[in-house]
This record gives sequence, C-alpha cells and structure tokens, in this order.
Amino acid sequence: MKKAVIALGSNVGDTLANLKEAVSLLEENGCRVLKTSRLYQTEPWGYADQDDFLNGAALIETDLAPFALLDVTQGIERTMGRKKLFLNGPRNIDLDILIYEDETVRSDRLTIPHPRLGERLFVLRPLMDIVPDMTVPGRGTVAELFAAYRGDERVEETDLVLMEP
Ligand code: ATP
Ligand code: CA
Ligand code: CA
Repeated sequence: MKKAVIALGSNVGDTLANLKEAVSLLEENGCRVLKTSRLYQTEPWGYADQDDFLNGAALIETDLAPFALLDVTQGIERTMGRKKLFLNGPRNIDLDILIYEDETVRSDRLTIPHPRLGERLFVLRPLMDIVPDMTVPGRGTVAELFAAYRGDERVEETDLVLMEP
C-alpha cells in the first residue's frame, strides 16, 4: 500500500455534498481514506469572477500506481459531471494529486508533487491539518512550505468536515 494526498475543491452547486461524494467515490475505487482535513472557504485562484471555493485535502492509502490513481480521480470528475470550462475556472469538483509517497512524476498528463502546491494557501492550510510532517519530494516538509508561504490569499476556516473522526 502507498500513501498519497489528494486536494479536493468545489465552487459550483452544493459544495459540501460534492466534496463528500468525491470522498465516497474514492473509497469505492481502490482508495482508503485515512484522514481528512477541515474544510476552508477560499477566494478563487487565478480567475476572480466566480464564487468562493470550499477546499480540503485527504490522506489516502492505495495500491493504485500514480497514473492509475489519476485515472480514478479523473473518472470521478467525469462521473460527477464536471464540466471543464477553462483553466482555474468554476467547477463542481476538482481532484488533484498533491503527493504520492516519495515519488516524483513529470509528464504531460501528470506532475507529482503538484507543481503549484507551495504557492497555494488553500492547499497548504488543509495539508497542515493532516500531514504537517510529510516531506514533499525535493521541497522539504509541509510545515516548512507553510512557514515559507508569502502570498496574500485569504483562507477562512469553517467548521465543516469531510468525515467524522
Ligand atoms: P491546477 O493544476 O493549477 O490546480 P486545474 O486543477 O484547474 O489547475 P485541470 O483542468 O483540473 O487543472 O487539469 C488539467 C490537467 O492537469 C489534467 O488534465 C491532468 O492531466 C493534469 N495534471 C498534471 N498533474 C496533475 C496532478 N498532480 N493531479 C491532477 N491532475 C494533474
Ligand atoms: Ca486544481
Ligand atoms: Ca485538477
């Protein structure tokens, strides 16, 4: 079994229900969800003229290799009827693979660790909830990246959770 971390985001429809559905679908498709972060309400990144996002992250355990895991996350996005309007635009569900064990993957279809992880507070903040001590290959620990964050994003903690502890 390998450990991986998935980022979850939604800003269209019932965002909490969308994130919870994605977690259930991960569990039905070869991923065991070990831990989930709190959820954060965040301002959209890259394209401002859209609703706030609800963002979180999940630590999973899986036998799926990185590309097979991407097939699963993209399959879930399709199943949930994600319409891809444009890059960084509104979507009912977005699943990104942030970290996969200590592996580095660089291809057109998949880059791990996720290349923009360190620039995004809406990713770093949930990561701090679940894996502060995890090493992001080539970049130090999550806590080190969080401490080094210099952006000005606003990320508001909610009392919403993906799974009861
Ligand atoms: P960003 O990657 O900046 O968060 P996005 O999530 O809006 O942007 P998408 O439109 O969801 O981008 O995905 C674009 C492509 O990114 C996908 O088709 C996928 O093949 C590729 N991709 C590369 N690395 C990853 C990764 N680690 N996790 C998920 N998708 C990835
Ligand atoms: Ca994304
Ligand atoms: Ca994505």
